[in-house]
Amino acid sequence: MHFKTTANVNVRTGPGTEYSIVRTIPAGTMVEGDGGVSWKAVVLHDGTKGFCSAAYLEAVFDLQPLSSSVWVPPVPKEYFALSQTYLNEDWTLYPKFGHHAGVDYGGHGTTGIQLFACADGEIVYRAVASSAWGASLGNHAALHVPSVDRSFLYCHMASEPHALGPVEAGEQIGIMGNTGTSAAGAIHLHLEGFYGRFTIAERSFTSLEDIKRKTFDADAFIRSRL
Ligand SMILES: [Zn+2]
Repeated sequence: MHFKTTANVNVRTGPGTEYSIVRTIPAGTMVEGDGGVSWKAVVLHDGTKGFCSAAYLEAVFDLQPLSSSVWVPPVPKEYFALSQTYLNEDWTLYPKFGHHAGVDYGGHGTTGIQLFACADGEIVYRAVASSAWGASLGNHAALHVPSVDRSFLYCHMASEPHALGPVEAGEQIGIMGNTGTSAAGAIHLHLEGFYGRFTIAERSFTSLEDIKRKTFDADAFIRSRL
């Protein structure tokens, strides 16, 4: 969502005053922001990313999104409900960092559920279940949406994802499945939101802080634009 700075604010490389300052922006600057109560991940008008103290950001509700794109749910309406939330804590399901790096939409045992591009964009990365990353993510693909400069990583697809290249909002990019490491083998879409144009190197998370720095709540982001 949009925020206006209420004072001169430092944009930092991480969510805390211990992180270095990227830039200081003047009071009254509009930014795109997401995230926690005390620190927000922000994207400036020129695409610069960083973190600002939420104490100096005032929410602005009366603007259209910077994007003029159409947004659609990534799954059919009847499945557009979360079965696991973003950053949900579960050390059994997510043994490495104890928190869910994405959101899940459950398929409730149904096969053949279509997955849709949530906005106009480009498939900038794809890999099949037999690839190195496929062992955990199954058949997976990343959609970059240039209008907001964010990427959406669709995981555990039943079959090979859409080819690299442009896609339109609502275009089918795969079928919901349970390939890779899928909790209890359940058919679901695991969807991760990343700032910027996705590269698989970013997926090598090093800590919970690293997850929070690179990713955002894709469900909340899409829902706010429908
Ligand atoms: Zn998941």
